[in-house]
Amino acid sequence: MDNIKKAVDLILNSKKVFALTGAGISTDSGIPDFRSSDGYYTKMDPALALSKDRLLNHPEIFYKEGYKILLDLNDQKPNGGHIALAKLEEMGYIAGVITQNIDNLHTKAGSKNVYEVHGETRGIHCMSCGKEYEFPVMREKVEKGEIPPRCDNCGGVLRPNVVMFGDMMPDDFSRGADELNDTDTLIVVGSSLTVSPVNFLPSYVDHLIIINNDPTPMDNRADVVIHENSTEVLTKILEEIENRK
Ligand code: ZN
Repeated sequence: MDNIKKAVDLILNSKKVFALTGAGISTDSGIPDFRSSDGYYTKMDPALALSKDRLLNHPEIFYKEGYKILLDLNDQKPNGGHIALAKLEEMGYIAGVITQNIDNLHTKAGSKNVYEVHGETRGIHCMSCGKEYEFPVMREKVEKGEIPPRCDNCGGVLRPNVVMFGDMMPDDFSRGADELNDTDTLIVVGSSLTVSPVNFLPSYVDHLIIINNDPTPMDNRADVVIHENSTEVLTKILEEIENRK
């Protein structure tokens, strides 16, 4: 039996299915993988460019480099993979998505129950009083040369809602992990499952479907492993489910 059919059988026979997504699901939307060795990010180290240390101690460099990554992410559109997951949620076949991505593409595609364990780039907040603003407020201030951008309320420094290197994991991580307590099947899409603590999440569930271009450390305990383009695979899974209705 082919892997798509096997994955669909597993999804249809599970009480609760969740998806866990990483950078690989967004590469077809033109977003380079932070950790891939080729392309855009060879010129800067995102671990450094998007770090709390940079933001606090060298804001002028942060707003030249790290901030540019966030701007790029805000201009991209969801692809067929994001859309398939949103439809599967709408149809009731998956309960939601836990994502390592900060590109907002699951939300843009229409997914409702999304846990963004590395934060998001829709909003910013004041590090002193906590006041929340929309991302374009930061864009305006930076374009006017206000570096670092400051809170209108208290004058504190504004920062993006992304989880930066040096930050704690947000509430979404523990809430997402809680969702997996009663989940039977986890569909891992486009994650190499090498980044802690997200790489522990597959151990919460009985069944695993892994869709990733390259092998992962969890392949040997997965029920279905598909090393192919995730946009195509998720689209086929959606089609197969629709065909069986
Ligand atoms: Zn403030």
